Amino acid sequence: MTKAAEILGQKFGKWLVLEKTHKRDSRGQIVWRCKCECGRERGITYNQLKFKRTVGCFRCNRRRPVSPRPTLNELIDNSTQSETDCFIWKGSFSRHDKWGYAIVYFKDERGRITHKVSRLILEEKLKCCLLKSGFACHTCDNPKCINPEHLFLGDAVLNPKDAAKKGRMARGENHGSRLHPERVPRGENSGRAMLTEKDVKIIRDSPLPSRLLAKNYGVGKSTIQAVKNRESWAWLK
Ligand SMILES: [Zn+2]
Ligand SMILES: [Zn+2]
Repeated sequence: MTKAAEILGQKFGKWLVLEKTHKRDSRGQIVWRCKCECGRERGITYNQLKFKRTVGCFRCNRRRPVSPRPTLNELIDNSTQSETDCFIWKGSFSRHDKWGYAIVYFKDERGRITHKVSRLILEEKLKCCLLKSGFACHTCDNPKCINPEHLFLGDAVLNPKDAAKKGRMARGENHGSRLHPERVPRGENSGRAMLTEKDVKIIRDSPLPSRLLAKNYGVGKSTIQAVKNRESWAWLK
């Protein structure tokens, strides 16, 4: 049995032992709350610490070999020029979306492997890192194109607007929720629903004021009003 005084405040690798918890692992060993040098906390047993099964948290423990990032010229060399001045990528294309963006594989500092070529090129062009919210948009509207001259920086607001303007966005009868209504979790299946179908029917038929119904079902007044006005649960007749 390890005495708390012996190990509290001690350092094992990058771990600092903070306190004893009431948890036990599957073998009945005491789990200690430890803090990594980077600030992440985790419960670890004394044996794991003593025998250096863990030297730091999952981030600090792992060494990630980083492969060199392809240069602008290397990327452009891997494309062919079309009549419309588009540089058509000769490498792989994303299969996750139907637009099929040009992608390239290498391991970066954050362990990410798949990269959109258009993003890399735009980063080179702008000499900065794109944030998650930044999008590489095409003036030529060709996702396979990697011509730096055809790329501009858009954001989450601009990109869909741009797509809609160019008629690339699925909307109305072409929207996924209409084409495949069975894929959209509705009502009780949505996982966020506070009400059930039965509640909704009762609420719609009820002459009681929204305020009272809201109190009764433990939801906000606006929720009740949305149900009554058929803004939510609209598919339920
Ligand atoms: Zn760490
Ligand atoms: Zn282009």
